[in-house]
Amino acid sequence: NREWHLVSRPVGWPKPEDFALVEAELPTPGEGQVLVRNVYVSVDPYMRGRMSAAKSYVAPYELGKPMQGGAVGEVVASNAEGIAVGDHVLHFFGWREYAVVDAKNAVKVDPDAAPLSTYLGVLGMTGLTAYAGLLRTAAFKEGDAVFVSGAAGAVGSQVGQIAKLKGASRVIGSAGSDEKVRLLVDEYGFDAAFNYKEGPVGEQLRAAAPDGVDVYFDNVGGDHLEAAIGSLNRDGRIAICGAISVYNNTEPAPGPKNLARLIQTRGRIEGFLVGDHYDLQPQFVQEVGPWVASGKLKYRETVVEGIDNNLEAFLGVLRGDNTGKMIVKL
Ligand code: NDP
Repeated sequence: NREWHLVSRPVGWPKPEDFALVEAELPTPGEGQVLVRNVYVSVDPYMRGRMSAAKSYVAPYELGKPMQGGAVGEVVASNAEGIAVGDHVLHFFGWREYAVVDAKNAVKVDPDAAPLSTYLGVLGMTGLTAYAGLLRTAAFKEGDAVFVSGAAGAVGSQVGQIAKLKGASRVIGSAGSDEKVRLLVDEYGFDAAFNYKEGPVGEQLRAAAPDGVDVYFDNVGGDHLEAAIGSLNRDGRIAICGAISVYNNTEPAPGPKNLARLIQTRGRIEGFLVGDHYDLQPQFVQEVGPWVASGKLKYRETVVEGIDNNLEAFLGVLRGDNTGKMIVKL
């Protein structure tokens, strides 16, 4: 049973030496617990935050202990009522091959209803993030023009498509390669998209959204946020979901220089955390599940194989190696 430990807190970009793949004993489940063989393990940008000691909404990873994260696996031993050997569960002990999980922290998932990996992505945490952030935090309504950054990633690709399916007047996305930009327009139905590495974001956004944007869903921060404020329409709303462009910074990044535009536009900027919106989960599954099943809402996954490559997969998310949800298959 191998598991990944954090051995030192990264400064700037995480380095392989900050981590160790450790051989550990196979744990035995106690009363009310199950032993799970992980099948799919999630790697997510927020994990970078847990590698730092700074106080946040979730505790830092402990040094010399296994890291955590979303995972889906098969129950191989059960000491808990209601969960049997052979069941599949979603839980929070990724970054390892086997996990002992309290039954109350394991959610049964059905591999016949949807592919197991989707419970980590399009039908899981990143999907709900897109849904809640767009519909609740940004208060999206039919006819809005929507801009989303990180648009070829797990959250971003779903934000753009949900906006389209719900009657956005125009959906614009930004991503870090021409191939991703093509995918947004050709496959996901975005009205316009641009490669943020090819020129100033502000200029590219103005060209892609000549009539401005009503909603900006921010996955990136930095110059993307400044550009969106610059293109914000009257009563525009900005949902701050993430700021991946600054996660590896060692100094705080300067903020947008044009906040006074919020006065003129009566604009609103609001951060949100998916964990506060699980009351929307049933509605999310009911509405988005059929779109995924029918292919109306498309998704990609970048699947990396093997526990040895768990760290590389995580670093890949920070570099932009992924299209759609990055997942490790054990
Ligand atoms: P993604 O699948 O979008 O993967 C991250 C992507 O970020 C990469 O593929 C890369 O794509 C892009 N990226 C990396 N560096 C930069 C940069 N400097 N500038 C612009 N883009 C960059 O991850 P998720 O969908 O899981 O997460 C997206 C965002 O949402 C993250 O910021 C994450 O922290 C946040 N999040 C917030 C939640 C909340 O509750 N608030 C919950 C879940 C996620 P590219 O090739 O386009 O550069």
